Amino acid sequence: MTEQLIIIGSGPAGFTAAVYAARGGLEPLVVEGVAAGGQLMLTTEVENYPGFPDGIMGPEMMELFRKQAARFGTRFVTSDVSRVDLSKRPFRIWVDDTEYRAEAIIVATGASAQWLGVPGEEKLRGHGVSACATCDGFFFKERDIVVVGGGDSAMEEALFLTKFAKKVTVVHRRDEFRASKIMAERVLRHPKIEVRWNRVVAEILGDDTVTGVRLRDTVTGDLSDHPTEGVFVAIGHTPNTALFGGQLALDPKGYLLTFKGTATSVEGVFGAGDVVDATYRQAVTAAGMGCQAAIDAERWLETSVHD
Ligand code: NAP
Repeated sequence: MTEQLIIIGSGPAGFTAAVYAARGGLEPLVVEGVAAGGQLMLTTEVENYPGFPDGIMGPEMMELFRKQAARFGTRFVTSDVSRVDLSKRPFRIWVDDTEYRAEAIIVATGASAQWLGVPGEEKLRGHGVSACATCDGFFFKERDIVVVGGGDSAMEEALFLTKFAKKVTVVHRRDEFRASKIMAERVLRHPKIEVRWNRVVAEILGDDTVTGVRLRDTVTGDLSDHPTEGVFVAIGHTPNTALFGGQLALDPKGYLLTFKGTATSVEGVFGAGDVVDATYRQAVTAAGMGCQAAIDAERWLETSVHD
C-alpha cells in the first residue's frame, strides 16, 4: 500500500502539517519517533504561544497538538525512521524492518540544541539550565544569569535576558566572539553584561536548582566558582538531517534547504520547522511552516500524482 503523505517528525511543525493534511483528506501517517513531541517536551511552561493566555506546559501542549491531528484521522507510528530512499516515487521509508511507501513526504524532524555535556547539566535542565532564553528568560527576573557561547545566538540570548536579569555574564571559550560585529558590539557595551573570556563551564553546581558554575580558564587551567541562578547554553543547534544526507540538498550546517515555499530539492518532499530554520526556532513559526508544507504537499499531490 502506498500512503499519500508521510510526515516524519512530531513537533509543532509535524503535528500542524498532520492537522491540515488530515482535514484535507490525505489520511497522513506521522512517524513520530520514540521521543515524540520534539523540543517542547524538554521545556517547562510555554507562555508565548498565542491562544494560551495562562501558559501551558510544553509536553501538555504537544499532547493537544497530537490529539487534534488524531481527531481528523491522522495515524501514528511511534518509532524512529531508520532509513529513507527518495531516489524515486513512491518514496520508501523504513521503520526498523517495516517498509512504508508514500507519494509525498514532509520532513519535520526538528533540531536538537547542543549541550555542554558537563556534570550537573542534565540533572538541572528545566531547573535553571535552559537552551532557550525566549522560552525561559522570564523566570529569571532580577537574577544573575550566565550565557555560554560566543556566536550570534549567545549574543541574542544575552541581550534578550538583560530585560529580566539583574546581570548577565557571557562565558566564552576564546578571547573573541564568533558573532557578527554588530551583535558583539551591542553585548560589549551593554551595562548589564559582563564577559568572561577564555573560560569554559566545567560543572554546573546545585542540588535542586542552579546555584553556580565552575569555570575553567582555557589559558591557565585555573578553576573558579561563579554564583548564578540560571545557565543558558547557546552553543548552537544541530538540525536532525542525518537520515537525508546525500538525498536532499542541505546547507553547509546541515539544515534542509527549501526553495519556493516548503519544497525541497526532491519534488514531492517538503520541509518544515526547525529542520529548515536556523533563525526563528519558535513553536509558532514551526507550526506555521507545518501548515504551509501540508498545503504545498496537497497542491502538489493534486497536480502531480496520477495513478
Ligand atoms: P555558532 O555560530 O556555531 O556559535 C556557537 C558558539 O558556541 C561559538 O562561539 C562556539 O565557540 C561556542 N561553542 C561551541 N561548542 C562549545 C562548547 N562545547 N563549549 C563552549 N563553547 C562552545 O551557533 P549560533 O550562535 O547558534 O548561530 C548559528 C547560526 O545562526 C549562525 O550562522 C548565526 O549567525 C545564525 N544566527 C543569527 C542570528 C541573527 O542574525 N539575529 C541569531 C542567532 C543565530 P567558538 O567561537 O570558539 O567556536
